[in-house]
Amino acid sequence: MTEESTAVTHPFLDLAPLSAARFASIEDRVARLLSTTQDVVIMQGEALLPLEGAIRGCAGPGTTALNVITGPYGQTFGDWLRDCGATVHDLAVPFHTAVTADQVREALAAHPEIDFVSLVHAEAATGNTNPVAEIGAVVREHGALFYLDAVASIGAEPVLPDAWGVDLCVIGGQKAMGGPAGVSAVSVSERAWARMAANPKAPRRSYLSLLDWKERWIDGGRKVLLHAPAQLEMLALEACVERIESEGLETVMARHRSAAAATRAGALALGGGLEPYVYEATEAAPVATTLRTLSGVVASELVASALKTDPALPLAAGGGALAQEMIRVNHYGPDATLKTVQACLTTLGTALGAHGVTVDVKAAQEAAAAAWK
Ligand SMILES: *Cc1c(COP(=O)(O)O)cnc(C)c1O
Repeated sequence: MTEESTAVTHPFLDLAPLSAARFASIEDRVARLLSTTQDVVIMQGEALLPLEGAIRGCAGPGTTALNVITGPYGQTFGDWLRDCGATVHDLAVPFHTAVTADQVREALAAHPEIDFVSLVHAEAATGNTNPVAEIGAVVREHGALFYLDAVASIGAEPVLPDAWGVDLCVIGGQKAMGGPAGVSAVSVSERAWARMAANPKAPRRSYLSLLDWKERWIDGGRKVLLHAPAQLEMLALEACVERIESEGLETVMARHRSAAAATRAGALALGGGLEPYVYEATEAAPVATTLRTLSGVVASELVASALKTDPALPLAAGGGALAQEMIRVNHYGPDATLKTVQACLTTLGTALGAHGVTVDVKAAQEAAAAAWK
C-alpha cells in the first residue's frame, strides 16, 4: 500500500475552487461584451435557466404581456407567461420574416395595459433576426418592461441592452460566442429588479431565482457565492469571452455577417432548388443561414447524407415539421469562415447531385467567395 494516490491528474478534474472574485470578474467581462452598466448575473445552466427565471421573476396574474413570436422560442415564452398567470397577447409573424417596430407599436396601442414585452432577437432555429433597436424605442415609449432573448445574436451582431432600453437581456455561450452550453447570463435593469421585488410570485430560494442573486450576491458586494460554482463551465465562459476580446468583437461579428452573406449567395448560385428561407437578407440572422429545399428532396435526408460525408460540418435540418424543407447552416463562432461555408455548399451540392438534382458547385464556391466581405 502506498500513501500516494495512483490516479493520474486530469485537466478537467483537478481544478482549484473558483473564487468569488474570479466569478465577479467574469461577470464584469460579460458586462463589457454587452456594453452595459446594468447588473449582469451569470446563471450556471443552459440559457433556458435565465430565460425562464427572468419571466417567472417578473410575471404574475397582474401582468399583461405582449409576446412576439418569430420562431419556436417565442412560443415557449408565451407558455411560461401564461403559466405565471399573465394575460398574454401573442404577436406572431411568419418564420421567414422579421417583426417590425410598427407591428409592435400597433399591438401596444391595441392593448395599452401591456406592461411586459418579450422578444427573441435572432432565431437560430428559423434564421431570422428582429430590429431590436427600433422595437426598443417603441417599447420604451410605451413604458413596458422589455425582455430579450439574445442567445443567438450575441457575438454575431450588436447586442446593446442599455442603448436599446432592454430590461432583461439573456445570452448564452454556445452559439456565436463559440463557447460552452452550460453557462448563460442575464443583464437586469433597475426597473426589472423593482418589478421582481414587488412580485409575490417571483421565485425565491430557488435555482430559478434572479432575486436570490440580487439579494445575496450583488447587494452584498459580490463577496460570497450562493453555492459552489460550476468551475468547468465558468472557466470555459471566461476563455470564450477572452478569445472574443483578443480577436475583437467587431471582427467576430463581421465574420458572422460575411458567413451569412456568403451562404445566401452560394446557395442561390448552387441551384438545385435551394433558396434562402428568410426572404430578405436584412432580416436574415448572421448566426445561422436557413435554406429551403424546393427540389422535393427531404431536407433532413439531405443533411444526413451531407453529414455522412463530413460529420464535422455545421449543418442541421429544421426542427419538427421544418425538417421536411429547412436546412440550417450554422455559423457559430469558429465555424464562421469562408472555408466552412464553402465546405457546406460543396457537400450539400454533392448530396443533391446524388439525389439526381443538377447543381453548380463551382458557381456556388465563387459566389460565396465574392459575397464574403
Ligand atoms: C439556441 C437558442 C437558445 C438556447 O437553447 P438551446 O436549444 O439549448 O441551444 C435560446 N434562444 C434562442 C433564440 C436560441 O437560438
